[in-house]
Amino acid sequence: MNDVILVVVQPRRGQILDSAMTAIGAGLDLKRDTAARLVIGVVGFDATTVAAGLKTNGADDLVAVDLQDPGFDPEAHDAATRLLVADTGAGLVIFGHGVDAMGVAPAVAARQGWGLVTDVTGIQVVGGTVRVIRPSYGEQLLEELECPRDTLVLTVRAGAFTSRPGSGTPAQVRSLKAPTTSGRVHHVKWIDPDTDSVDITKAQLLVSVGRPIGGADNVARVDKLATAMGGMLAASRPVVDAGWAEPSRQVGQTGRTVKPKVYLALGISGAIQHIAGMSGSELVIAVNTDRSAPITSYAGYVVDIDLHELVTALESEVGL
Ligand SMILES: Cc1cc2nc3c(=O)[nH]c(=O)nc-3n(C[C@H](O)[C@H](O)[C@H](O)COP(=O)(O)OP(=O)(O)OC[C@H]3O[C@@H](n4cnc5c(N)ncnc54)[C@H](O)[C@@H]3O)c2cc1C
Repeated sequence: MNDVILVVVQPRRGQILDSAMTAIGAGLDLKRDTAARLVIGVVGFDATTVAAGLKTNGADDLVAVDLQDPGFDPEAHDAATRLLVADTGAGLVIFGHGVDAMGVAPAVAARQGWGLVTDVTGIQVVGGTVRVIRPSYGEQLLEELECPRDTLVLTVRAGAFTSRPGSGTPAQVRSLKAPTTSGRVHHVKWIDPDTDSVDITKAQLLVSVGRPIGGADNVARVDKLATAMGGMLAASRPVVDAGWAEPSRQVGQTGRTVKPKVYLALGISGAIQHIAGMSGSELVIAVNTDRSAPITSYAGYVVDIDLHELVTALESEVGL
């Protein structure tokens, strides 16, 4: 058995994404459970510089492959990742799930003749195999798959594993020369998202509203309240579909995955597609007039009260 785990980090515009830090977290968990060697491979434009700033407690090797293209060239990423596999002898390759990983992980698995599981939310080591959990069928079901752990490519969901930013001094970087590729894809430019879109994934407190909030004015009230409480507004999909909140506020399968310390859910039923985005919250407080709503099984506290009454009470509590 090949007991080397390779976590592939794909920086974007010189930044290491949260999904990559999650992948490193998953790699560290597996290293602890298997005593395997953990190699972090940084692939991309100016990868050596990015790798030199990476503090990776617990990784055994840090290797960079510098690519020419500042954008994302899937062919170059595929060739560089397979070079890393050959160089390190890795049998298990982990990416942070995202568009760049999905542009390369299937190619790597196919060319190596290995298995591929995407959007993984749980990994458990069982002898020479790993049991992998992934949501499927629009998050209606969770699949458990048993895979060999020495010929496998995984993409892991951001927020589903503990991301552990390293501390101390960065590890020494080994640089490998990028393989030559055909260069058929050329990066033209980056197009930035709207500047007014918010990032709810960083909030420690989310006050999240569901359909019974009833309208844009009430959502605006809760937005103010959430800010006064030191948190941010989030929402379920019907609230966004109705145009009462911006899409960047949506939590769930087709929204953002969040992991706040406190998730205060005001009138949210807890459909599986919503749970997919917030089940990693440290504490869920479900405010719901139906004590048997699905969200109550994920909640530390269930508050059986009309959400509008609670909003009014909290407003006066914080002086609004
Ligand atoms: C492919 C697909 C993807 C999806 N992606 C997402 C996603 O990313 N995010 C998402 O959120 N949904 C998503 N959905 C929709 C999801 O299935 C649910 O329909 C949705 O989450 C329900 O939203 P809700 O809980 O706000 O509303 P409802 O289902 O209407 O639930 C309202 C809840 O509030 C309670 N309630 C009612 N009145 C009050 C009151 N006055 N005070 C307190 N409690 C009250 C009710 O008991 C109920 O539990 C998706 C669906 C599909 C098919």
